[in-house]
Amino acid sequence: LKQNEAKEAFRRTNADIEALRRVSRQEYLKKRQQKKLEEVMEDLEDENCLLRGLKLTEAEDRDLSYKKQIFEIAKKKSVLERDESGNEYMIPEAYDDQECGIDQKKRFSVASQCYGKLNGGDKINPFAEQKAWEDQQIEKATWNFGSKDKNRSMSADEYEFVFGDLIDFVKASANEFDDDLQAQQTRSFDLQVKSNLEKLQEERKTLPVFSYRDELLRAVEKYQVLVIVGETGSGKTTQIPQYLHEAGYTKHGKIGCTQPRRVAAMSVAARVSQEMGVKLGHEVGYSIRFEDCTSEKTVMKYMTDGMLLREFLGEPDLASYSVLMVDEAHERTLSTDILFGLVKDIARFRPDFKLLISSATLDAKKFSDYFDYCPILYIPGRRHPVDIFYTKEPQADYLDAAIATALQIHVTEPSGDIMIFLTGQEEIEAAAEVLKQKTEGLGTKIGELIICPIFANLPTELQAKVFEPTPSGARKIVLATNIAETSLTIDGIKYVIDPGFCKMKSYNPRTGMESLQVTPISKASARQRAGRSGRTSPGKCFRLYTSYSYQHDFEDNTIPEIQRTNLANVVLTLKCLGIHDLLHFDFIDAPPTEGLIKALELLFALAALNKFGELTKVGRQMAEFPLDPKLSKMIVASGKYKCSDEVISIAAMLSVGNSVFLRPKNKQTYADNARMWFQTGNVGDHIALLNVYNEWKETNYSTEWCAENYIQARSMKRARDIREQLERLLGRVEIELISNPDDLTPIKKAIASGFFPHVASSMKNGRYRTIKYPQTAYIHPSSGLARESPSCVLYHEMVLTTREYMRCVTEIEAKWLLDVAPHYYQVKH
Ligand code: ADP
Ligand code: MG
Repeated sequence: LKQNEAKEAFRRTNADIEALRRVSRQEYLKKRQQKKLEEVMEDLEDENCLLRGLKLTEAEDRDLSYKKQIFEIAKKKSVLERDESGNEYMIPEAYDDQECGIDQKKRFSVASQCYGKLNGGDKINPFAEQKAWEDQQIEKATWNFGSKDKNRSMSADEYEFVFGDLIDFVKASANEFDDDLQAQQTRSFDLQVKSNLEKLQEERKTLPVFSYRDELLRAVEKYQVLVIVGETGSGKTTQIPQYLHEAGYTKHGKIGCTQPRRVAAMSVAARVSQEMGVKLGHEVGYSIRFEDCTSEKTVMKYMTDGMLLREFLGEPDLASYSVLMVDEAHERTLSTDILFGLVKDIARFRPDFKLLISSATLDAKKFSDYFDYCPILYIPGRRHPVDIFYTKEPQADYLDAAIATALQIHVTEPSGDIMIFLTGQEEIEAAAEVLKQKTEGLGTKIGELIICPIFANLPTELQAKVFEPTPSGARKIVLATNIAETSLTIDGIKYVIDPGFCKMKSYNPRTGMESLQVTPISKASARQRAGRSGRTSPGKCFRLYTSYSYQHDFEDNTIPEIQRTNLANVVLTLKCLGIHDLLHFDFIDAPPTEGLIKALELLFALAALNKFGELTKVGRQMAEFPLDPKLSKMIVASGKYKCSDEVISIAAMLSVGNSVFLRPKNKQTYADNARMWFQTGNVGDHIALLNVYNEWKETNYSTEWCAENYIQARSMKRARDIREQLERLLGRVEIELISNPDDLTPIKKAIASGFFPHVASSMKNGRYRTIKYPQTAYIHPSSGLARESPSCVLYHEMVLTTREYMRCVTEIEAKWLLDVAPHYYQVKH
């Protein structure tokens, strides 16, 4: 009997352990915090708490009196006047240790100092604001006090420690119950998976699009082409393909859904596969450049619009698709615009083919008109009011202003996550760094901040972080590029900070020069950004520009990409599809004729087209590579110069962008030295990239080697993937893989065969002038040749920061140009 009892007790212990294990960390933290809240309230209300024999260190003492002050003020509910005089940004001084005795009035007025309120400014209820402020302060104080309480957090650690021990104990000695335990575990795992799925299914039903499910399915059945308009987050991207799948549209073909951005395609596919409880890459998959996560099984395929355009090359009637959804149509990317023309044609000769055009903003009529006046389905979203604030003065440095604003919100506004729209990876990383620095020294003085970057090159593991719910008591700051404007829905955002800029490709058709520039956004974009704050509850949007500027300087809509980009790639693709008469192609908005002519000229100079504008063999080979025509040409030319092995490595390294070399703070000199090492002999930046790749390869792709040499291992892995694909494509266009590592001249000539339009010659004082269409530029300081000033250089790209900089530069001989581009350069007589 005793033995049975013991067995039973043991089993119960096991069950307890299991139960404990299932308590998620979040719940645990929530409970812990709740407890703290109660305790702190008691402590703070007790005037004598300091006299109760608590031995506090000086810092703790100060901290406590600081909190007491806040609490006192909160209790008094004093109405604070607003100081209208100031108009500068200020970080609330109360951050500093010595500022415990800060004038609360001053602190409170910071937010109102900065913004003239636009909507309902008069209606502001000082009491409501005061109340919110109090709540925040109390909440903050609570969190602070809790995290300062060393005994408590230690015991929590102990708890975790013991927790681990307990599990070990089970594993180590409960042999006879092992099977039992395992069975139990499996069951609970099943349950968890199921309940997760069930939870997701419940969530699906709460999305605005759900109430339109039947209407939508009826409309799709009845009409071949449909325009769908709905607020961001209403469920268009994740739900509509699923509804169609459930309704049987995947029985005779795939459902395709195009996205303008890679990250969106990946993230949405991941979400849908979760909702359906299938493995990503099976029924639900995605396809982006250099990465295909689909299989035979895949019936719902998310992909970039550019990838679908490439699929046309192999399947001009899209026969394997039963439905195509061109999503985010309002973005009007170049590929989306071209797709419009192609799918419109397909819809005409394939009656079984269904076409959905979905868009976030209300330019639906334009799409409907273009698609022969097809019906429009509106999905009313749930939108909460958003208060918009403008700065009183223009901001000199929007990054500084954005960070200051974020911190202000953090200390003065009630809970809710913050989203800051920035222009690119570099800026996001800089902002994250500054935010960390500014908050690091503050310890427990402010509530916990979680910084989540999201941009296109961010590794997938890190992308998921942005979707994780914020633990209670903490606040998330999402640092996002334009990607979060409409492509990704991140829940829980209550505050949006909009500096009013984005990075945009701009193209000068006269010079053929393309560059990425930080450009003011349009009013339509600004509205979208503001809308991100009001998805789940009323929100606030802080615009870092003046109301006047918004009214007078902002364009109404973003100019479609087709009207501001280099069209060479598209022209090449269209030529490959047999579309010769480009001037009469059915564009929704035609590109400037000048741009088309420039593209034809470039392709002719690259020898991709002959003088009749017909595709040549070289052109056909180039079209196989999913790269810019200049890069494709460089690869195709490497066949002739017998150095294809080296050239595809360079192309792969160039394709991963500017994320190869690391330059950690405090170690910049080391990093720069390491970088210069790859430049030995002033070989130029292209060859330096090749050296990096080859040396990494020699170490058997070692991660440690990367760390030692300040090279980003992740970028290198990506370069390796890309290189493998380029190698396969070489085989497809029947170019032999030949290595010629000892002679750099053929390699440079191959590069020049593609990049001859990017050549500049030296002037005085490090100044350069581009050859064909004279323009002044400088070698980018990051280049190995920055201090060398060779007389003639070729560059990979031109960036405009403080001046025009040529990035990634190699010295060439001017006379090669006559060789590689005789139609483009002529000898002056
Ligand atoms: P729409 O396309 O209309 O903008 P979506 O279909 O993208 O809307 O999003 C619908 C819902 O799915 C949103 O509430 C969003 O939070 C959720 N969601 C989408 N992608 C993810 C993801 N990767 N992780 C978590 N939730 C997601
Ligand atoms: Mg969407």
